[in-house]
Amino acid sequence: AKKAGRGELRFFSDAMNAAARDALVIDGALRHAIAANEFRLEYQVIAEAGSGKVGKVEALLRWRSATLGTVAPDRFIPVAEDSGLIVELGGWVLEEACRQAAQWRGGPLAGVRISINVSAWQLADPGFVPLVEATLARHGVPGALLELELTERVLIDDGPNVRNVLERLRALDVSVSLDDFGTGYSSLSYLTQFQLNTLKIDRAFVMDIEHSTRSNSLVHAIIAMGHSLGLQLVAEGVETDGQARILARMGCHYLQGFHIARPAAPEQLLLFVAPRSDA
Ligand code: C2E
Ligand code: CA
Ligand code: CA
Ligand code: CA
Repeated sequence: AKKAGRGELRFFSDAMNAAARDALVIDGALRHAIAANEFRLEYQVIAEAGSGKVGKVEALLRWRSATLGTVAPDRFIPVAEDSGLIVELGGWVLEEACRQAAQWRGGPLAGVRISINVSAWQLADPGFVPLVEATLARHGVPGALLELELTERVLIDDGPNVRNVLERLRALDVSVSLDDFGTGYSSLSYLTQFQLNTLKIDRAFVMDIEHSTRSNSLVHAIIAMGHSLGLQLVAEGVETDGQARILARMGCHYLQGFHIARPAAPEQLLLFVAPRSDA
């Protein structure tokens, strides 16, 4: 029994080792990545459902590591959250997004709100709201041009504190959206407990909206509920024209997904909004 136990342990730890080694390697490379200038932001259009105009954009973090090559956010964000490095990284994202908003002033993307993803660790940091305020001020960007995307996890982790943070953000005119709505914890009480501006309906529901009556009904219900609570609605992961039409008909305010535009560098985003020269 002892031998079998050891064998199992070894087997188990081999699999764990692979994951842990991966995380360890990423963790090591992440530590120099900010200083080495390895991050950049891509922006994905969030279009107004009716007009198709760019309503806002979501900033998505991109990392090209000198040693590891391109690493997807789904691989490195969890590692950065485990080590706490996400606070510094999130600070870089905030800084870069505000710099970009300031740079867009006076051009075709002037006044387009930038939405950034914020993790629980950042929000729990007592310096977070002052940092947001100072970063906006340093770039001369009004709070109304910034939106923060939080997940439901953030809201349950630390209720009273989060409520206070959201109130102070609102005082800065910064809006808050609930990301990936419908996945994970989904307690509807969050919607009345916290001052939110926007619900982002998760891609998992949008995906099946054309072919599954259940998904269709669910999305319909979320949109109706959002309307009655005075919330803006964004559908994520819109990949087909059929989905876009259904969502618009249901009264969804904004659409985001590959059907509208892929995440892109700022230069490409300008091409998306600039009037075509042959027009
Ligand atoms: P998310 O916040 O839900 O972001 C949306 C993700 O869906 C992005 O993946 C985007 O590229 C992808 N996407 C957009 N439209 C479509 C579509 O039509 N179909 C499909 N299949 N996918 C679509 P990405 O950029 O790989 O980011 C993954 C996750 O990493 C994000 O999910 C977010 O949770 C996290 N993340 C990205 N940037 C940051 C950041 O700056 N800070 C933090 N804390 N997390 C971030
Ligand atoms: Ca997001
Ligand atoms: Ca999302
Ligand atoms: Ca997601």
